Amino acid sequence: MEYNFLGKTGLQVSQLSFGSWVTFANQIDNKLSEKLMALAYEQGVNFFDNAEIYAEGKSEELMGTILKKMNWDRTSYLVSSKVFFGDGRKKPNQTGLNRKHIMEACHASLKRLRVDYIDLYFCHRPDKNTPIEETVRTMNTLIQQGKILYWGTSEWSAQEIMEAHMVARSLNIEGPVMEQPQYNMFYREKVEVEFNQIFKTVGLGTTIWSPLASGLLTNKYLGKFPENTRLGREELDWLKERAITEDNLKIVRKLNKLALTLDISLPQMAIAWCVKNPNVSTVILGASKVSQLEENLKSLDMLPVLTDEVLRHIEELLDNKPKKPAF
Ligand code: NDP
Repeated sequence: MEYNFLGKTGLQVSQLSFGSWVTFANQIDNKLSEKLMALAYEQGVNFFDNAEIYAEGKSEELMGTILKKMNWDRTSYLVSSKVFFGDGRKKPNQTGLNRKHIMEACHASLKRLRVDYIDLYFCHRPDKNTPIEETVRTMNTLIQQGKILYWGTSEWSAQEIMEAHMVARSLNIEGPVMEQPQYNMFYREKVEVEFNQIFKTVGLGTTIWSPLASGLLTNKYLGKFPENTRLGREELDWLKERAITEDNLKIVRKLNKLALTLDISLPQMAIAWCVKNPNVSTVILGASKVSQLEENLKSLDMLPVLTDEVLRHIEELLDNKPKKPAF
């Protein structure tokens, strides 16, 4: 495993990390969750991703129990949480990025994760009803209190991230140092175009999510619709509708063919393709089976397969390179 610095910080994060969305305390049982975390850690993964909303707090509880049981050296791993969506309760102030919810959410996550501090704390979405200054000040307070070490954003626009930076700079307090955007072969705009300037100026780190577009970038949706997969879950119908389209499947079929000729699997090709982007600090993997995680962790061995020529071939098949502004 190799480690990247998270943006301009001195913090090192493994090129591949592991997250619990949909799976922990929901799709898979606790024993399997434990096996997956152990496998990831053994292979050098040092970052585990979570959020208050995942399984309405139960994903954090489970991760906390596993961390306690594993008894890994606390200095050897990073654990995250995210605030915004709440833990399922929806009364006023039980969601959002106001000072009250951020403080209460952080305390609840610390308890559920059974840690003294959260390494990376994300604002899960922008909050259009709270002034960014209130959020920035609260995040800074949490850092001063030692409850979180670094704070960042998820799915914020470049403009919102820059506003947070300007506020932090004018107050001489801590601004956001990382963003967690979606990034995969089908979803490229933010990482490849929108954030370009902030990568250069503030040196934003990125912990990217859904490198396989929730499983679309595998060969399993190319034939008869498979059983027991994420995109077959009733509550995720909206995601299936977005992902499983004729156009997307046509591209996946071609990518899969290319992967076969290169003697690697499509998930490995898709993950290695994300890792290749120098603005990606870590690729967060998800898995519902040990075999998937084993396969995905091997993506790093496949990096040399993605030569310039292969990358050009992939680009031709995708035919979706986002356009950069001319000047
Ligand atoms: P992926 O796009 O990689 O999807 C993971 C899913 O794809 C697995 O659970 C599994 O689902 C399937 N899969 C994985 N590997 C394979 C394989 N080798 N062969 C076949 N199927 C495979 O990542 P996620 O969407 O899970 O995102 C990763 C993490 O990012 C999350 O756990 C979470 O921590 C974070 N995240 C953050 C978000 C945010 O808003 N900040 C939003 C979403 C995720 P199945 O077997 O059920 O088909």
